Amino acid sequence: MAKIIDGKKISSEIREEVRETIEKQGLSVTLAVILVGDDPASRVYVGNKKKACEYCGIRSLTFELKADTTEQSLLELIRRLNEDSSVNGILVQLPLPPQIHTESVIEAIDPKKDVDGFSRASVGALSIGAKGFVSCTPAGVIQLLKRSGIEMEGKECVIIGRSNIVGKPMAMLMLRENATVTVAHSRTKELKSVCKRADILIVAVGKPRMVNHEYVKEGAVVIDVGIHRLDPSENNGKTLCGDVDFEDVESHASFITPVPGGVGPMTIAMLMKNVLESAMEGGNAL
Ligand code: NDP
Repeated sequence: MAKIIDGKKISSEIREEVRETIEKQGLSVTLAVILVGDDPASRVYVGNKKKACEYCGIRSLTFELKADTTEQSLLELIRRLNEDSSVNGILVQLPLPPQIHTESVIEAIDPKKDVDGFSRASVGALSIGAKGFVSCTPAGVIQLLKRSGIEMEGKECVIIGRSNIVGKPMAMLMLRENATVTVAHSRTKELKSVCKRADILIVAVGKPRMVNHEYVKEGAVVIDVGIHRLDPSENNGKTLCGDVDFEDVESHASFITPVPGGVGPMTIAMLMKNVLESAMEGGNAL
């Protein structure tokens, strides 16, 4: 039976470290969060980020803009926050309404305050091994592995998914840890046999419970980035599942992350860490 990697515990350790550093050093740290429109899921995510800030002693400024806000006025707000030296991090909650060009908004954020790590400057810095903010979810996966004592150097790592916010930065981070990295995607042939090569299998495919034991080498480490809502009445009371069929894979893996309680809680913890890093030295989350 696999050991369960406890993302809830590890994420609270990280939040606690951030809280202690801010308290001990008497730092004044501020995160600006911008929410455009009233998407209920986005509102929940913003609420959770505010709560985490409160816990860590980070001041959070929330800007709630109407759904019909123009791109111009959003860019103007970002420009003001870029210039405000009391603001250490700027986060624009995605997705944005259709009249706003997401890339222009991300690019408008000063890279020194890009705590989500989505801008070209941050992604480019990661690719060449320079300082910069790293996208929170893949950075969280690295922390889960490190803090569970899992060696990455020299290991075969297969990542399913090549999105800009998970798969690609994940590949760069695993390279930085000296793993041998394969990135699989929807055009990959013989996906099961590619995945069976992995000592560490990271799944960010966005398909509920797609990965079963046929994808997993005996004794592999399995990290499930996926999150999907379930109808509890049809799923024995369960409200969430991942991209991995946990029950089927558990007996084949050496370590596995559950959903919920695996990668999910790490994302906000790493955001807190990025905001602190920004306040301390202009950014490098790892
Ligand atoms: P995307 O939909 O952007 O990317 C999915 C990737 O999977 C693509 O690269 C796609 O390939 C690939 N893919 C899709 N179908 C297949 C298939 N049948 N076989 C092989 N590859 C396939 O998703 P994200 O990266 O944004 O997110 C992935 C998952 O992680 C989702 O479940 C999401 O909810 C979750 N997530 C969780 C977070 C957290 O905090 N825990 C944060 C962010 C995401 P191609 O490029 O060829 O289309």
